Amino acid sequence: MTRIDKENYYLDIAETVLERGTCLRRNFGSIIVNNDQIVSTGYTGAPRGRKNCSDLGYCFRTKHNIPRGERYEMCRSVHAEANAIIHAARDQMLGGKLYLVGKDAVTGEYVENTNSCAMCKRMIINAGISKVIIRNNKTDYTVVDVNDWIENDDSLVAAFGY
Ligand SMILES: [Zn+2]
Ligand SMILES: [Zn+2]
Repeated sequence: MTRIDKENYYLDIAETVLERGTCLRRNFGSIIVNNDQIVSTGYTGAPRGRKNCSDLGYCFRTKHNIPRGERYEMCRSVHAEANAIIHAARDQMLGGKLYLVGKDAVTGEYVENTNSCAMCKRMIINAGISKVIIRNNKTDYTVVDVNDWIENDDSLVAAFGY
């Protein structure tokens, strides 16, 4: 038997978390792992008690043709990464890894070359997470060193999208 590698094992779990997402446009799932222990999970969803895109029957961002990577204040959801972070204590996250998987809600395809949005990047930096592992497809993934987001600060050059 071939044993699954550890990164894809955690990405598979993040992908299962994603299945609970409520957006009609794109859903993400994330888990935070530290010292090989799952500390927290999060998926795309409206704040507790508020209506989800799936309850409303439309996604505001799709309805208003907002391009990928822009105007995230218009998204109804607490993002997957943000949900995982707010459900854990900082000392549990310090030095840990965040695994992220995104899927198009319509086609079910993986969101290619995805990245955390500008708001989530800030939170990931302050949570003390060291690496973000992002799934490209069933076996391939990108490893982001969070230090790169600090040293190459894209908010200084007003970069949009990703
Ligand atoms: Zn939505
Ligand atoms: Zn985000």
